[in-house]
Amino acid sequence: MKLYSIKGGIKLKQNKFADANIINTLPVLDGELFYYPLSNSFCNNSIPVVEKGAVVKAGDIIAKASETGFSIDIHSSVDGIVEDITQIKHSKLMTTEGIVIKASEQSGDYVKLSPTKDTESIIKNAGVLGMGGAGFPSYVKYASSKSKVDTLIINASESEPYLTCDQSILINKADELIEMILFIQKELNIKRVIVALEGNTTEQTDKFKQLAKGSNIDIAELPRKYPYSGEKQLIYVLLGRTVKKGELPSSVNVMIQNISTIYGIYEAVKQSKPVIDRVITVSGDIDNHQNIIVKMGTTVRSLLEKLNFDPDKYNRIILGGLMTGTSIADLDVPILKTVSSVLLLNEKIKNHDEEACARCGRCIDVCVMRLSPTGINNSIMQGDINQALKDDLMSCIECGCCSYVCISNRKLMESIQYAKNFLVKDHVAATENDKAVGGK
Ligand code: SF4
Ligand code: SF4
Repeated sequence: MKLYSIKGGIKLKQNKFADANIINTLPVLDGELFYYPLSNSFCNNSIPVVEKGAVVKAGDIIAKASETGFSIDIHSSVDGIVEDITQIKHSKLMTTEGIVIKASEQSGDYVKLSPTKDTESIIKNAGVLGMGGAGFPSYVKYASSKSKVDTLIINASESEPYLTCDQSILINKADELIEMILFIQKELNIKRVIVALEGNTTEQTDKFKQLAKGSNIDIAELPRKYPYSGEKQLIYVLLGRTVKKGELPSSVNVMIQNISTIYGIYEAVKQSKPVIDRVITVSGDIDNHQNIIVKMGTTVRSLLEKLNFDPDKYNRIILGGLMTGTSIADLDVPILKTVSSVLLLNEKIKNHDEEACARCGRCIDVCVMRLSPTGINNSIMQGDINQALKDDLMSCIECGCCSYVCISNRKLMESIQYAKNFLVKDHVAATENDKAVGGK
């Protein structure tokens, strides 16, 4: 099929070492602690509905969706006892309010979602979020796509190095994925479905491709260029349609879902299962690469101990992909729905070796959003958040290309992430406060 080209992006070594044919399962230990933050990036905080000492089963709701704004229910991923409701560690927010559950003996079963026929409610009640990393609530996408969308794009391109978790789902759950894709297509009356594959996912997913062809689903094989799989980029590459700033894909009649999210929706709709676990890739400078089902709320420390990794042997541990993930210093942060991998690397973190910008322009050349990462970085470093916003900070898709190519080791994407997570929120709060005070 015809593909549109976009400016920017980079070619990355694939390093796809984890065998996608096999999915292991991480055991739960008696007495192990699991951590569930009440917040995620796009949603209002959920409200705890359990108290300290409460006995819970895997799948039980422990926090209900807030009645305002976007919000989802949160479920226990294990059988256990509520240990505490307190500040917990978080890889991006440092600390946040959350629920701690101490695992007891596991039945291996889960409490099913309350029956409802409405797919949007099932997705919301199951707590399905964009599992490719963005974490946008899937029920909102579903609702905004009704009677509007002519094309469903399934993002299975997995262009980040090391990751094969999406590929493992394509290989091992091909029938379930096709069933769910056709279900969504029928329910939302969508004319066309395109599945985007890239690199290894193109080469090793024969069963899925055969099933797709037999179901009139188009397969698009993308060139190996990162980040063609960004949501806006993918829509443009496949359809030539441009999603304007601040708008959803439904504004150009497209619904786009990551393949792991489709599987999460399948489990919710067909098995009444909330999102209590997911497949992640464990890889990097190690021998024992693998894809493994991990319960939500498992700490990185616990995962590494169970898999016999000594964290002190690695210079850098990343939660998520090499390009878009977060380097963590604290191993007691939990693995959440948006975490696709844990990478153990020998390379050192760019730390105090940042040098002055050499004005080479490489960061600008690779930016698929046509931003000036160096300009935005300068504004952030000078504390001028107004200027950073004028320079379109919020359009950054956090692909990491600018940091990757910077010859002066400047932490460009990292500064943008920090500004988005902390400075912009503070700035908006301060502006609203000023308005309120001025209006009195
Ligand atoms: S500014 Fe944002 S979108 Fe542009 S290259 Fe850097 S991380 Fe990617
Ligand atoms: S890539 Fe680095 S050195 Fe080059 S212009 Fe951008 S910030 Fe400056």
